[in-house]
Amino acid sequence: MNLKYTTTRAGNDQVTSSQAILKGLGKDGGLYLPLSIPKVSIEEIGTFTNLTYNEKAMSIIGMFLTDFTEAELRHCIDNAYNEKTFTSPLITPLHMLDENSAVLELYHGPTSAFKDVALQILPYLLTTSAKMNDDDRTYVILVATSGDTGKAALEGFKDVPNTKILVFYPNDGVSMVQKLQMVTQLGDNVKVVAVEGNFDDTQNGVKELFSNTLLGKELNEKNYTFSSANSINWGRLVPQIVYYFESYAQLVKNKNIKLGDEINFTVPTGNFGNILAGYYAREMGLPIKRLICAANANDVLKDFINTGSYDRNRDFVKTLSPSMDILISSNLERLLYLLSDGDKSLISELMSNLKSEGSYRVSPELLSKLQSIFYSDSADDKDTIKTIKDMYESKNYLIDTHTAVAYRVYEKYVATTNDTSFNVIVSTASPYKFNGAVAEAVLPNYKDLDDMAQLKAINKITGVAIPDGLNGLDGKSVRFSDVIMKDDMEVTLKQYLNL
Ligand SMILES: *Cc1c(COP(=O)(O)O)cnc(C)c1O
Repeated sequence: MNLKYTTTRAGNDQVTSSQAILKGLGKDGGLYLPLSIPKVSIEEIGTFTNLTYNEKAMSIIGMFLTDFTEAELRHCIDNAYNEKTFTSPLITPLHMLDENSAVLELYHGPTSAFKDVALQILPYLLTTSAKMNDDDRTYVILVATSGDTGKAALEGFKDVPNTKILVFYPNDGVSMVQKLQMVTQLGDNVKVVAVEGNFDDTQNGVKELFSNTLLGKELNEKNYTFSSANSINWGRLVPQIVYYFESYAQLVKNKNIKLGDEINFTVPTGNFGNILAGYYAREMGLPIKRLICAANANDVLKDFINTGSYDRNRDFVKTLSPSMDILISSNLERLLYLLSDGDKSLISELMSNLKSEGSYRVSPELLSKLQSIFYSDSADDKDTIKTIKDMYESKNYLIDTHTAVAYRVYEKYVATTNDTSFNVIVSTASPYKFNGAVAEAVLPNYKDLDDMAQLKAINKITGVAIPDGLNGLDGKSVRFSDVIMKDDMEVTLKQYLNL
């Protein structure tokens, strides 16, 4: 059967999964999602214990992307997840902490952050969707990045036929390691440019390019079209559902839990994509009791889940877990749609309040549904460093700042609820990616060391291997050194595309 997709808002258009991926965002501003959620029986989940990651991905992703043939899907999945792209044969391995908890390591991809799981496959889903819809244009991926997304998108789209990718980053807004990762990027279809200004300037510049109709026309004449790699695309969400099943299957296989046992997941959350994938897994039938949403000092989601009132009117805080520094969590819109049984007029109203007032409130009924599944709390920077240090000293296990926020929130959850169900901490980045805070937690002399020296010193003291992509970054040759003014972003794009 062909699963149809609709948007969370007013429009009634129904499209196929490949069309939803190509469109990215609905014309009404809403996000695409499937009209119904496929179900998986507990017996079928039992059979997953004998399947590889890619076989599970074939099964789960295949239930959603129903207009892809088996061969098309296999092409996408096998190109995304293999021994060249992920350093673990399990793709997303589990690390046991004790008999009640484990860490799901999502950072063994090329850029050492969890975004690789989705961005390694998105380029193939996109180009396959284009082919299926007889669209022979070259897709130009424009990205404004504050760090992780840019590099993960570059690695994903590098040398993928019929695509070109241009990444803009704020000149003073990314870490040394993140900058080195991007400016040394390989591939014939990639370009990276620094923009004077902060992240907002860069992002606004990219938004202006996307909405510039004259530019769009020029692109069309040369058989180009814009696309984006950000996390509102369904093609980024659906691959993330797989690792919830993967971790459950690993736990059953290793006899840490019994088939059918309900477990919890604690997810360090920013744009709400990762944890929403967990909600989809739960709706499909994976035995998940609670989804614990961990926030940092930007605790909009904590307040929302605890009170039903979403309010972005507050100071934006720069924290040690920058990938969670977000005041508008776009994917929450999909959850509101699902919890309200697809009430499009309600979602349109809430989102229009968010735009005009910066806030909205949901009904007590919707709030109680939300709270029956989700729990949320936050951890600040001080807690984050202390958690990394404690975890390293007590369990000899090194975690990054985002994972530390999740672990601290999990501790708070257990202390308030006494729920001792098995818990999986979702780990979203290698500790080497956010070296400053990790160095502060485990190195006595961290202040005397520059970034690359910190990586080496952390490796020396902990014995944890530095990921290939980060090792020797300072010795790689810099391919991209342009620094431009914001007003020159359009010219830069045109030069790149020979327009
Ligand atoms: C993007 C990111 C997150 C947040 O994930 P969402 O899906 O946006 O909630 C958390 N940690 C790291 C390291 C990330 O890169």
